[in-house]
Amino acid sequence: MASIYIFTECPHCGKVTSADWHYKLDHLYLYCRFCGVDYSREYRYVNEKAYVEETKQKGYGVCLISKSDISNTRLYFLDEPLTEGELKVYIHRYNESDTNKEKSYLITYMDGEFNLLFGNYPDDFFLSLREHWDKYEDMYVKTDEWD
Ligand SMILES: [Zn+2]
Repeated sequence: MASIYIFTECPHCGKVTSADWHYKLDHLYLYCRFCGVDYSREYRYVNEKAYVEETKQKGYGVCLISKSDISNTRLYFLDEPLTEGELKVYIHRYNESDTNKEKSYLITYMDGEFNLLFGNYPDDFFLSLREHWDKYEDMYVKTDEWD
């Protein structure tokens, strides 16, 4: 099936994230790398009528633990509100000696607000949609080239 990766605004938090866009059908699939939402949008045709089917697994934030050995780096998606126990586990991993603290973060997303619990916001967190396209233009197809 024909699909490309694009940048788009997350339907849950509004941050810019990458998505898998099946352009012939206009289906969209994304995991937001900031709020952690798992979202899909598909068009269905039943009895010659079209309707939109959206599924949204709520996102409550993300945690990146960056390790000096990149194969040990992990990005966790919070699909439920963070518990005290989970927070302790993430803090423990963050404090391990091989963690790159500069590049690690735990960001929660609740009631429309982001909170940084440790580490630093990733650079891309503050970029607009246009700035994403400019930064990653070599990696992605620009949709405005198709106009
Ligand atoms: Zn989001």
